[in-house]
Amino acid sequence: MMLTKESNGYDEARLGFQRLDPHRPEVIFAVTSAAEVQEAVKYAAEQGERVAVQATGHGLTRGNNGGVLIATGNFNAVRVDADAKTAWIEAGATWQQVIDATAPHGLAPLSGSVPGVGAISYTLGGGTGLMARRHGFAADHVRRIEVVTADGVRRNAEDDPELFWALRGGGGNFGVVTGIEVDLFEVPTLYGGSLYFDLVENPTALEVWRDWTRTVPDEVTSAIALVPFPDIPPVPAPLRGKHIAQVQFAILGDNGADLIKPLRAIGDPALDTVGELPYSESHRIFAEPDRPDSYRSRNALLSDLDPDALAALPKQASGPAMCVILIRHLGGALSRRPSIPNAVGHRDASYSLTVLSPGEGDVTELHRAILEPWSAATIGRSLNFSFAPLTPDEVREAFAPADYRRLTELRDRYDANHLLAPNHEITGLR
Ligand SMILES: Cc1cc2nc3c(=O)[nH]c(=O)nc-3n(C[C@H](O)[C@H](O)[C@H](O)COP(=O)(O)OP(=O)(O)OC[C@H]3O[C@@H](n4cnc5c(N)ncnc54)[C@H](O)[C@@H]3O)c2cc1C
Repeated sequence: MMLTKESNGYDEARLGFQRLDPHRPEVIFAVTSAAEVQEAVKYAAEQGERVAVQATGHGLTRGNNGGVLIATGNFNAVRVDADAKTAWIEAGATWQQVIDATAPHGLAPLSGSVPGVGAISYTLGGGTGLMARRHGFAADHVRRIEVVTADGVRRNAEDDPELFWALRGGGGNFGVVTGIEVDLFEVPTLYGGSLYFDLVENPTALEVWRDWTRTVPDEVTSAIALVPFPDIPPVPAPLRGKHIAQVQFAILGDNGADLIKPLRAIGDPALDTVGELPYSESHRIFAEPDRPDSYRSRNALLSDLDPDALAALPKQASGPAMCVILIRHLGGALSRRPSIPNAVGHRDASYSLTVLSPGEGDVTELHRAILEPWSAATIGRSLNFSFAPLTPDEVREAFAPADYRRLTELRDRYDANHLLAPNHEITGLR
């Protein structure tokens, strides 16, 4: 379906999860098939208009004024092959839709903290999920990709090793993906949830979590979020008005309760949601809000967590704007190269540090200042966790230098006229 500014449904089709600086296209193709994606790309090329793609809008960084928007939200079927333990996922499917299709088979995808996120873009950006330290990046478990490149040709990317390499980690720079086939994993249950510690009463929470991450096996994937909760009713009563360290973890296997004993020694949590849960309930682990909002974030991938910089974080994050600090423990299978290489960068990072602020204010300098004390330990950045228009240099920092050069050459090969307008653009050599 083609929509213009005068059409009913124009706003519904263009507004996604991220409400800051939404797309304002001349024309929206609300697609339901690969053929319609191809039609939209050819139309944009003929008109000389740039093309943005949106599934849910979680990863929007800057809206395009004018041009074409391909809205994939209704192109979202998921087909499971339980014997092969794979799923075919169409362009607009969310992880929730994938989980709904895989859970009846006792199988789970490599989804992340919020299942409302689009499965395709998450995977093209690497994809750091709830079982990341055990199974690696989502991009490491992609078997097939169907894509429409900027010349309007439908391709099976795996037939072209360069395109297949670039798409898995290089984001939406090389074509409009119409579907991917991914591996699924047998996950009867997870042991997980969050322990919410009041930072005033439990100032050691960060340090204890950091020390604990150095001891845990790959079956443990965890993170810590520093959240200054406002004192308002939608916030659970025990958390209202408190600066909370939310320790979030997902554990495979049956000794989760033993493994988290050092975390329990931090103190009495203000809230405890830990227990055994089916993968279909995995959204309860991080318990991140999933309603449309305006937000900005910046990210740094770190070689280590310096104890002094870590101790200073809660105070630093109590700045003029609300800042939520999110630290994920990486390593494990994330650091191992997959059997078919891909463009995912900085596998040697041990932690990911993100500072995120809700609202519409300009927090660019504030976020840079919060990340500044970490510059010595910073080895790159994750584009998936960067919700801000980045400079070309900042995008470059997401990749190893040789990989970035290869990506720029491939951008020029597959999209010489830069028809595609992805959220994080690899600018090419021109
Ligand atoms: C609340 C929240 C939780 C998150 N949790 C995690 C997490 O646990 N792990 C993780 O790795 N990431 C996580 N992310 C980041 C998320 O994976 C990225 O923001 C991702 O880009 C979102 O994809 P989307 O389809 O939902 O967003 P969209 O805004 O719809 O898409 C983002 C961009 O992807 C590109 N794109 C979308 N569809 C296609 C396509 N079919 N073909 C080519 N390019 C396409 C476009 O450039 C588009 O601008 C989270 C984000 C949020 C907001």
